[in-house]
Formats: sequence, structure tokens, C-alpha cells
Amino acid sequence: MTPDQLLADCQVPVLGICAFSGTGKTTLLKKLLPELSARGLKVAVLKHAHHNFEVDKPGKDSFELRKSGADQMLIASSNRRALMMERPVEGDPDLKELLALVDQRHLDLILVEGFKRLPLPKLELHRAELGKPLVFEDDALIQAIACDSATVLPADCALPQLDINDVDAIADYVQGFIAAWQPVANQPFGPQGSAEGRSQLSVQQGIDHILSLVKPVSETETVALTDAIDRVLAVPAISPINVPQHTNSAMDGYACAFDAAIEQYQLMGTVFAGHAYDGQLQAGQAVKIMTGAPMPVGSDTVIMREMASEQDGMVRFDDGVKLGEHVRQAGEDIAVGEQAAAVGERIKPATVGLLASLGLAQPTVYRRPKVAIFSTGDEVCSPEHDLKPNCIFDSNRYSLHGLLAKLDCDIIDLGIIEDNQAAMEQALRQAAAEADVVLTSGGVSVGDADFIKDALATTGEINFWKIAQRPGRPLAFGQIGKALFFGLPGNPVATMVSFMQFVQPTLRKLAGEANWQPTLIRAISTTALRSRVGRTEFVRGTMQLGAAGQLQVSSTGAQGSGMLSSMTQANCLIIIEEAQDHVNAGDSVWVQPFADLL
Ligand code: AMP
Ligand code: MG
Repeated sequence: MTPDQLLADCQVPVLGICAFSGTGKTTLLKKLLPELSARGLKVAVLKHAHHNFEVDKPGKDSFELRKSGADQMLIASSNRRALMMERPVEGDPDLKELLALVDQRHLDLILVEGFKRLPLPKLELHRAELGKPLVFEDDALIQAIACDSATVLPADCALPQLDINDVDAIADYVQGFIAAWQPVANQPFGPQGSAEGRSQLSVQQGIDHILSLVKPVSETETVALTDAIDRVLAVPAISPINVPQHTNSAMDGYACAFDAAIEQYQLMGTVFAGHAYDGQLQAGQAVKIMTGAPMPVGSDTVIMREMASEQDGMVRFDDGVKLGEHVRQAGEDIAVGEQAAAVGERIKPATVGLLASLGLAQPTVYRRPKVAIFSTGDEVCSPEHDLKPNCIFDSNRYSLHGLLAKLDCDIIDLGIIEDNQAAMEQALRQAAAEADVVLTSGGVSVGDADFIKDALATTGEINFWKIAQRPGRPLAFGQIGKALFFGLPGNPVATMVSFMQFVQPTLRKLAGEANWQPTLIRAISTTALRSRVGRTEFVRGTMQLGAAGQLQVSSTGAQGSGMLSSMTQANCLIIIEEAQDHVNAGDSVWVQPFADLL
């Protein structure tokens, strides 16, 4: 396990203390902890102990109940809480699990002591008189050495050296360590940056490379509001009016200039929404007012009907009226000149409502991206015809239709192109001439007939990539003329997953959408999952709220990349990151909901 894996879920810095026994770890900590505490730092200590250690005493209730079989014993007072768990394991307990048990909410640091070979940053303690070797020479994670004056460090040792007897200096070092700490950067799609030294691109490297070649469309058009849904705004929506236009009533009730000293108010009339009270209200006067009706000049408060009693043209109010209540101020939602929606925003139902509320009936949007699609493969057969022997129905073109419709693209469907080079070249040329993006599925894996690769080589500049992901390892990407080309893998789940990860961000950027990022959330996996270190695994999952109010996710079961049923059952992808080869039930994982797209 790497430090990043171990510490990925930690919200505070963790520092290991590493020393041979007899060096005086506990003696030092007993001096260091009060010093850190005097500096206002809250420190937790996680200590390894003998397998049969006891913190409890025979005869105490908590001891007896635990010995009677309580799996967990939580004992608490107004001062202190102690949780004891019976968790026998082979070897050392899992440190990641232990760190997760520490209440990190009000903490500045966790010190870890007594665990061997910790994959985390450590302070080494050393005393020459013990005659033990220095650990840092074999352990790149040692950050500093606190030693006595008799210790001789090699001349080339670049680590900070502290005096083991100078508690102040060690506290300074720890304080600096806390200040310099940064949480482990999340890279759920694998590393960014150069792919040097890797045989396959990480998902993130693939995305970054592709996006660097995407130029957003610049052509715009003006559309009616009812056609604006899902389009991307090309001109900012600046409000020409105040919303609401007038200060108005938020309740059905009575408006007046409220004065607690006035016993009753003279009723001057009724104001309905869409109308106004002509006169000016004087002290002691009120009007009956409906929700949304403009506040009469001179009034400041609306008293709801339930708190009022009317008699003989007069109205009285119950106690408890607050001056100024139930009034919506002019422009409190949006003021004149304020930006209501920015360039690059995709217009959602609320956005279109907002534009309507401002009277912006003709928004200017970017033109839709044009996407040409076709399927390849002699075995691929249109579902509108009878299935030929040894063939499969074309499902990819239909999934792609659905995905492209969700992204509001114009689709040019070229159908199924037979397996021959001339037909392929002709289809590619036609597609690239008409579309911004050309998508094909099938024919890009190792072992596929070469004519697709030949056709691509003669029509454009295409790279055949291996992405460190499953499903969807093969991906062809490049340019044919001005169009971007994606050769998606043929397996139906791989086609969809590769679309989600690579084509979706491309089409969103192309459409003018600004700063789009996939939605990623954390959930607890209720199933154990397997992967392989060095690739990102996308497991079809279903997420739901668990009984304890925590988001949970489970695998849909068999994960064959041809099994489209796993996609229809799923509502998300569970991401097993490159660094992990497995996920235990109960572990927290990244989840990419389909809600963005599917
Ligand atoms: P390929 O990438 O061409 O090697 O295809 C991988 C698998 O996906 C094969 O089993 C193909 O039959 C299948 N496949 C290819 N194209 C489609 C398609 N349009 N619809 C459904 N399955 C397909
Ligand atoms: Mg094929």
C-alpha cells in the first residue's frame, strides 16, 4: 500500500513515530503532547499494543459485559468516551481501518506509534547508545530525524536533523509539518500529465489529450424559449428588470405601516395581484392585500390573515407581528443589470424559467454539435431486419443515439458500414465532411481486420490507444479533416463507458459548455470488488441510501463488457482507482452517477 492509498480518506495530517524500543518514544511523547496542546493543537495518538492488552479492569461493568459477549462496548460519561471492539485479526490490525475510527472532525494531527513498516510520513527517533542502525537509509518516507549528539549521520543525509532532547524544536517541526500538509489529491481517473514510462494512457491522460484538441463551436443562433432547453447560452442573460419588479406581499393578509402602539387600523380597501393601491397609506391605515400584490406607498409590513380580526371597517392584529415581515423587496431575486445566466451555461428547466421571468424570450445559443455515427462489422445486423446466422443485432448505434440525444447533438446516422476498405473510406469522408465529430464502434481492437485501420490511416490522422481501463481498453482517436474521430470499442458496455468518459467531455466542450466536470460522489460499497493495479475499473453499480442515511453502492453482478443488461440495471459506475486491486465490502469508493447522461 502507498501512503496515498493509506491516507486517502484522512482529513488531517498523519505522522508516524519510528524508533527501536528503548529509544524513549513514550518519554518524548509525554513531553511533546503538552507542548503541542499548549500551542492550541489537538492531537490524536494511535498506538500499537500487545495482542492481549486491556484498558479495562475485571469487576467493572464494562469489563464484565464485554466478557459476557458484547461485540462492541461503548462506555461514555460527560467527560470521556471509550469504544472497545473485539476484532481478532492475523498480524497487525489494518491501519486504514483504524484511522477511519478516529474522530477527525476537531483534530490537527494523528501521531501513529508502534506499527512496523508504516507506509506514511514518519519522524525517526535515534539514540546512539542503543547501537541500532538508522532506519531512514532504507525508508524513503522518513521526513526528519531526532537524535542525540552522539549520533553521527552520514554526510549526504539531507533530512532535517533535530535534537531528541529539545522538545521545543521537535514541536516546531511538527507544527511546520501540519502547516505544510495537503490532503491526498483525488485522481479517480488515474494520473494526469505525461504518460512517459506507462504502456497505457490513464483515463485522465486520455481525456486531457483529447480535450486539448477540442475547439468549441462559435456559430450562434437565436431560439424561442421553448426550444432553448438543453442548449448552451452564447450571450450572457443580463436582467433588464428587477425581479420582482415591485416590492410586494409574500402573503394573503393586511399591509400597513406597522406600529405596535396602534391598537386598530382603518381598512382602506383591497389590493389584488396585478393591481395597485392608488393612494398613500397613512399611520393607522391598512389595506387587505393578496400575495404578489404591490405594497402600497407608506406600508412596510404584511400581517397574515390568521393573525388579524376585522370588524366594522377596522382591523386588529394579534401580538407577535414583526416589523417588515412577509414583504418581498423589488429586485431581491435579480436586480436590473445583474447576470442571471452566464455564457457556457447549459439551459435547464430552471434556467429557461428564469429567462422567461426576465422577459428574455429569444436567448442566443451556440449551434448544436453535429455528430456522425456508424457501426462496423460484417456480423452486425440491423434490428429492423431478420437476424442472419452467426450475426448480432446492432445495439451500439442505438445506445449512441440515446447518449447523443441527451447531449442535444444533431445526429447524422450512416447506418452499418460493411467490412471493406472502400466502403469504410467513403463513409469516413462523408461523415467528416458533414460533422464536427465522427463516432464509430467496433473494429479498433487488436486482432480486428486491418482494413478499418488502413481506411483510417488513408483518411485521417488517427492514434490507436490502449487506455488503462476496463471495460473499453482500445480507443482510436484523431482527426479526419476538421472533424474529430473516435473509434469506440465494439463491445456494447465498452462503447457506452468510453462514450461517457471521452466523448461526453468532448461534446460538452465543443457545444460551448464551460468548465464541465463529471459528477463524482463517495459511497460505501456493500460488495467486495476486484480489479488490477494499474487500470481504472468501471463497475456497473446501483446506488441507494442505506438504512443509516449513508449512500451505498453495490455491483450489478456479472460484468461482461457485452452485457448491456448490466447497464440498464445500473444507475452509476463504481470507480476502482488505478492504485487499488480490490475493494472490500464497507470501503468507501468513487461513484459516477448516470444522472448526467443516461
Ligand atoms: P470489435 O471491437 O469489433 O472487436 O467488437 C467487439 C465485440 O463487440 C464483438 O463481439 C462485436 O460483435 C461486438 N459489436 C461490434 N459492433 C457492435 C454493434 N454495433 N452492436 C453490438 N455489438 C457490437
Ligand atoms: Mg469488429
